[in-house]
Amino acid sequence: MKLEYDDNWLRTLDEEEIRAVLSHEACHIAVLPSTTYYLKMGSESFVQWQKIFIDLYDEFLAHEEFRRRFGGSKIVDDDANVRTREFTSLDNVLRLSNSGTMDEGQALFFILNDAIFFPILGLSDFSQWCKAHELNNTYFYLNWLIEDFKYIESLRLNRVGTMDRVVLAAGLWTGVDARALLKEDKIVFLPSAQKAEDLVREKDAPLTESWLQRRLAMSAS
Ligand SMILES: [Zn+2]
Repeated sequence: MKLEYDDNWLRTLDEEEIRAVLSHEACHIAVLPSTTYYLKMGSESFVQWQKIFIDLYDEFLAHEEFRRRFGGSKIVDDDANVRTREFTSLDNVLRLSNSGTMDEGQALFFILNDAIFFPILGLSDFSQWCKAHELNNTYFYLNWLIEDFKYIESLRLNRVGTMDRVVLAAGLWTGVDARALLKEDKIVFLPSAQKAEDLVREKDAPLTESWLQRRLAMSAS
């Protein structure tokens, strides 16, 4: 496993913040058997697409490990300080997506990858950021993903099986329109959502049922 950091970025951190950042990385090492991706073959963009969701799931696992090891101690505050300073890059991503310079799906998952730390550690900073940017449904959507991650974790599959399940679930996650989430703060299911449910149902009925219920609840409201 290889860790790479931008020296200029590290210089912006104090000693305790550096310790927090490295402790987070150590949690990745503690929960990952290897850094190999086991992906479905396809175009370069399909490969990148799969990595986005696997990386987000890996962040979830690392933050859970971080909470188990350090929950309630000062190192959580140090990590949170570093991550709330990164909110300026979330602001930039939002601006790029709103101006059409960046794909909304990419922007959404860039934001969530940074944001998932906060709810896992029981901190409200990201929900406040969402409130300030009128993105309350993005926070709501993130909580759906966390529910799914907890479900996938509970299956106790091996690494290959886990990645397979994450990519399968991603077919359901991307049934929600990222553009409507980021531009209008609305949860809108794409026409492809129902098709994705039909595809996933055979391989994971409980996960499909969760999404069917979420979709029906949204169309009823
Ligand atoms: Zn990480």
